[in-house]
Amino acid sequence: PAAVEESEPTAAAAEPAEPEAVAESGDSAAASLKVPSHAPYLLIGGGTASFAAARSIRARDPGAKVLIVTEEPDAPYMRPPLSKELWFSDDPSVTETLRFKQWNGKERSIFFQPPSFYITAEELSSAENGGVAILTNRKVVHMDVRGNKIKLDDDTEISYDKCLIATGGVPRNLQVIERAGEEVMQKTTLFRKVSVSPQGGEDFVSALEGLCN
Ligand SMILES: Cc1cc2nc3c(=O)[nH]c(=O)nc-3n(C[C@H](O)[C@H](O)[C@H](O)COP(=O)(O)OP(=O)(O)OC[C@H]3O[C@@H](n4cnc5c(N)ncnc54)[C@H](O)[C@@H]3O)c2cc1C
Repeated sequence: PAAVEESEPTAAAAEPAEPEAVAESGDSAAASLKVPSHAPYLLIGGGTASFAAARSIRARDPGAKVLIVTEEPDAPYMRPPLSKELWFSDDPSVTETLRFKQWNGKERSIFFQPPSFYITAEELSSAENGGVAILTNRKVVHMDVRGNKIKLDDDTEISYDKCLIATGGVPRNLQVIERAGEEVMQKTTLFRKVSVSPQGGEDFVSALEGLCN
């Protein structure tokens, strides 16, 4: 379930934001990152659903300006190969390349698109032909659905015309493992993400490196 609160509308929430304005983030780790104050299409979550939505939006509206906000440090990627082709790969460099052979024998990266596919969040408001920008390492903590705006974990606000909540789910552990005690937990690896976000959590790369060592 999405860890996003929803609030009652307020008078202030109905104020439209300046579409061209750019807010400076308060987060020191991202001090240089300019966060657009408005996104025509705002997608919360950086998984497959968000990426597929961005692609469909751009196919129907080629000039669309799409902003993906994700709490992960990475651009959208495929999770299924993590526990299959990458996990069973004999190539020790796989944790760096993150490439795998598809069913048709062709090799590809787990990332849906190379970094060059995306425009920067700063460019979003001025990009003539629109594009898809990503804000990584950012968590949406509050939504004002009538005021059409969201708040990030550093209190930055972004207004939107249309918003998609694609925050996925949190996998459950098995009770039998949770109850088995410290010794079993130490030998159990739970992973879902390719790399660790500042919020912490499971991470494929270190799990696989642990397996190789
Ligand atoms: C290791 C592994 C193997 C898998 N193998 C298969 C398979 O073989 N076949 C299959 O059909 N499915 C498989 N799945 C499941 C499949 O990957 C998921 O169904 C799919 O990823 C769901 O996509 P999603 O975009 O809905 O959610 P997710 O991929 O979970 O993406 C949600 C995103 O939202 C972000 N987010 C959450 N809350 C916030 C917030 N408040 N603010 C900002 N960002 C937020 C998360 O960080 C994440 O980036 C596998 C999953 C894993 C982990």
